[in-house]
Amino acid sequence: VARAVRQRLHPRPPLPRDPWKTLFEELDLWAGEGRTATFWWRNDDVEELTRGLAFLLELQAALNVPLTLSVIPGRVSPALGELLAAHHKRGIATAVAQHGFLHLNHARRYARPAEIAARRPRQEVFDELLQGRRRLETLPGWAPVLVPPWNRIPANWLPSLPGLGFRGLSTFGPRPQANPVRGITQSNVHIDPLSWGGRPAFVGAGAVVCGVRAQLRDRRRGRVDPSEPLGFNTHHLYGDANVWHFIEEFIGRTVAHPAVRWLAAEQVFQHEG
Ligand SMILES: [Zn+2]
Repeated sequence: VARAVRQRLHPRPPLPRDPWKTLFEELDLWAGEGRTATFWWRNDDVEELTRGLAFLLELQAALNVPLTLSVIPGRVSPALGELLAAHHKRGIATAVAQHGFLHLNHARRYARPAEIAARRPRQEVFDELLQGRRRLETLPGWAPVLVPPWNRIPANWLPSLPGLGFRGLSTFGPRPQANPVRGITQSNVHIDPLSWGGRPAFVGAGAVVCGVRAQLRDRRRGRVDPSEPLGFNTHHLYGDANVWHFIEEFIGRTVAHPAVRWLAAEQVFQHEG
């Protein structure tokens, strides 16, 4: 009901007839200014070897763009290491970031879900993160980057991350700053083709493409940090053929534009200051 009321008060503007055209017009402006629009791809909730994961890696190989997998360390299977080792031989950048520890919700009832939750003893959480790090650091492509489950972590815990061995942090939405604390580079995701109200569902190509264009325009006009790469967030466990088709089309069409570069994790989390 709240959503229906909100939509009546603030109706969404109708989508343009050809959203792809408006996106490419925006990218042409970037090219005209001699600027590069940087993107990166983060796929969440990787744990064991599934058909969806194998399909994701095949798609990445076909598109030939870098990918960062956010892996749940408490749930990884040995088969994942073997799959990644074989995949790495293809020579496409594929990084492994740490997605919390077990991806369990520790928030209070009715509160927004979080595993790295302020109500938990700090040391308990840090011990889990260290244990998780040890499980992942032997995987091919491992990067010292934390992706907190549900994209939440208490801000006053960030100063402890470098001591736990992390160099990068990734949540959702425009980053407030590139280095929230000394020694940590933050690069978030901004675009998710799924909606998470109930069962995850594809929001539609038009809505995603318009969202990307708006994010790019905000960067070009300096409304948000223009140096933050635009993060495209996928979840291989959810979605139907339409989402896969869209992911393929979106990356395939943008990567072909001269103003666009899809970055590997080491560039996304490059230490800036
Ligand atoms: Zn997750």
